[in-house]
This record gives sequence, C-alpha cells and structure tokens, in this order.
Amino acid sequence: MREIVHLQAGQCGNQIGAKFWEVISGEHGIDPTGSYHGDNPNQLERIEVYYNEAMGGKYVPRACMVDLEPGTMDAVRSGPFGQIFRPDNFVFGQSGAGNNWAKGHYTEGAELVESVIDVVRKEAESCDCLQGFQLTHSIGGGTGSGMGTLIIGKIREEYPDRIMKTYTVVPSPKVSEVVLEPYNATLSVHQLVENTDETFCIDNEALYDICLRTLKLKTPSYGDLNHLVSHTMSGVTTCLRFPGQLNADLRKLAVNMVPFPRLHFFMPGFAPLTARGSQSYRALSVAELTQQVFDAKNMMAACDPRHGRYLTVATIFRGNLSMKDVEEQMLNIQNKNSQYFVEWIPCNVKTAVCDIPPTDMKMSATFIGNSTAIQELFKRVSDQFTVMFRRKAFLFWYTGEGMDELEFTEAESNMNDLISEYQQYQDATVDDNLGDEEYEEEEEQEAEGNQ
Ligand code: GDP
Repeated sequence: MREIVHLQAGQCGNQIGAKFWEVISGEHGIDPTGSYHGDNPNQLERIEVYYNEAMGGKYVPRACMVDLEPGTMDAVRSGPFGQIFRPDNFVFGQSGAGNNWAKGHYTEGAELVESVIDVVRKEAESCDCLQGFQLTHSIGGGTGSGMGTLIIGKIREEYPDRIMKTYTVVPSPKVSEVVLEPYNATLSVHQLVENTDETFCIDNEALYDICLRTLKLKTPSYGDLNHLVSHTMSGVTTCLRFPGQLNADLRKLAVNMVPFPRLHFFMPGFAPLTARGSQSYRALSVAELTQQVFDAKNMMAACDPRHGRYLTVATIFRGNLSMKDVEEQMLNIQNKNSQYFVEWIPCNVKTAVCDIPPTDMKMSATFIGNSTAIQELFKRVSDQFTVMFRRKAFLFWYTGEGMDELEFTEAESNMNDLISEYQQYQDATVDDNLGDEEYEEEEEQEAEGNQ
C-alpha cells in the first residue's frame, strides 16, 4: 500500500487539518473513536493511504499536529474528532511565533523541529511503501509559514525521492489585518517553489468572496471559510483515497499536472458551493456541475482563469453519474473554451469519476487547474511586499531573530521570476520556433561533422 504522512502546523494549519480528518473519516465510515461503521467495501479498500490500523481494528490518522503554542492543540483535542489522533503525535512549544516567519523558521521553530521529524520518522518507518507527505498550513503567520517551510525542508533532506504536497492558505487583507503577512507569505513562497512538488493554493481572498457573494454570508467566520476548504480537500484527495485509475497516487498527480518543476501551484475549485449547515440534495445535471466547476467564481484562488491559460487540468466528479455524460460535457467545455488551454500540451485535461459522493451531497465536482493565471495571486502578494520592503518597514523584527536582509531580496526576486515564468508559458504557442531553431542548428552541425 502507498501511504501518506500528514502534518498540520500553526493555527490555520491545525484548524483546516482537523476539519479534513473529520470530513474524510465521515466519508470512510470511521467514527471519532476510530471504529469502522461503514456500509461500502470501497470505504476501506485504500484506507491505509491515510490511516494506520491499530490494535482492536481501530483506524488512527497517520497525522502529526504541530504548533509553537499549546492553544490550538487543545482545540483540536477537544474537537469532534480530537480523540482519534495518536496522543504522541502532538508536538508543541510554549513560546508562540508572534506572526513572525523568522521565529518559526530560524529560532523558536528550529528548537522544536527535531521532535517533529522524530514523529515523522516513526510514522514513515512503519509504512509499507511511503508515497509522500502532505502539510496543511497558512503562510501569513509565523508557525505554519516559517516552521511549516522548515519542516518541509528537513523532510526533503531526509526523503528526497518522496513527494511533498501542501495545502497552503494564502493571506488576504479582506480576512486578516496583520501587517507582516506579505513578508511571511513571500518568504514562504520562496521555499515552496524549491521544496514542494504540488501546492494547492487556498486563497483566503477567494474563500471570503465566495462566502460574501455566492453564499450571501454577511460576516464570514473562519468556520465558514474552512467549510469550503474541507470540501475542496476532500475533493482533491478523492482519487488517492478511493479505488480508481486516474491520479491514484501523489506521483501520478505530479506527472500529469506539472510540466515544469517550479510551476506546481494549483488553483482548486469546487461545485456545488454550499454554506455551512446547508445541504445540497438538489440533483444537478452533469452539464450544470461542469459549467460551475470551471467558473471563475468557484475557484479557491482569487485569480480569473480567463486572464491566463491552462497548462493542465484534472477534474473529479463524484456521485452516481454517467461516465458518458461526464465525458461529453468535458469535451464540450474544452471545445467552447479552447483558447484557454495551451495547445502545446495535447490532452491536458483529465477526468475521473468516483461513485461515492461527499457525505452531505448527492454529487459534486472538484477542479485542479495548473493555470498561468495563478500569477495574479503572486502579483497581489508581491505588490503588498514591495510597498513595505522599499522602506524596510518592520524589517527589524526579522533581523532581530538573526535574519539577513538578503533573504528578503532573494525571496522577492524568486517570486517575481515565478510570475515571469507563468507569463512566458501563457504567451508560448505551438508555432514558437525556438526549439526548432536549436534543433536545426544541431542537425546542421551534425551534417557538417559528417562531411
Ligand atoms: P500561525 O499559527 O503562526 O501559523 O498563524 P496563523 O495560522 O494564525 O496565520 C495567520 C494567517 O492564517 C492569516 O492570514 C489568517 O487569516 C489565516 N488563518 C488563521 N486561521 C485560519 C483558519 O482557521 N482558516 C483560514 N482559512 N485562515 C486562517
């Protein structure tokens, strides 16, 4: 079996992580004590991917919970599925990171990171064939952001050939007012570009807009935002958790979705969108679902896909749906929108159907897009970074923890490079004869050599 080790770090990381386990436990028929009460053998067929089977037939999440302060850990433990976790796998400090990336990455976090790696090692050793790791975190604060990326780096060193995937919550001034967020986020992106294989960008700006505009919630709470996150995470992990062929493990997902190693920042989407507590039992047609899940309004990153082009796309439909219907609708939407898919990657849209729907819906669709429009998100953060960094505002908080200003400059230019790379592939066409010229030159040289 191909196991995944899950980690959650910081306040946001632990909140969305706890929600993830609640939702997938429900889907797999696992109750808060870890006992199975399901009714469908497919619920258990690939249960080993995320759970260890412990004594007495209990299922225990292969999860490590991390924070630099004890509060969130207590909240997880006293939450609805708090007792399902292995008590030894809670690793926490007392100091807090004070929304400072440097504390998470270099000082406070560095003191705690070995205890985290010990837990990871122990979990990894008991795996039959570990496929990789996933981390839930935000990049606006100090712990999930600074320490989260420190953990990623350490795991990368020790398990260089395993896949690293993150669910990364990107800050938005609409949701949080902490001034240091653009710094923390930029320093994190600098790390994520180099050290992850797949990053799902979960953008608080998009979550907030969906709550306000689509779900008509006047003052969305984190609970409302996280409801959207948990549907999305359940959706994008469907192919890993249930039997099926497409993107059935982290490596296959990376191979299908990532044409260039740095461009691995995905825009997730979900349909139908529902508010917390409300259920969607209205049967949608496959056509409606398809149309919704490709809609800019259903994207969890505040970027308009029509401003860019898709390098690759994967969609997952769930419920009792006809495969033929799904295939027809998917072809239809691609034909109508062909200008938004790069033509130099043929067959860049993949579709899966899983007959088990989410627990609170009859059917759903999840979207994973590798779109060049994701640069809009990085531009937003970069602009917020630049206004402060030009004046070196707040920098002493970081240099005070021993950081060098150079790291800020490097992070800024790495993110700007990333933006240019997306733009470059957005503009690229099949007819670019760049590659051909090189090819012809080589041929000429060969011909000359033969003479
Ligand atoms: P940490 O504990 O130091 O990692 O800090 P936080 O996780 O609190 O990071 C702050 C950032 O995360 C801000 O951008 C917040 O808006 C965001 N955030 C905090 N809690 C949540 C949450 O439960 N859900 C979501 N979507 N965002 C959160």
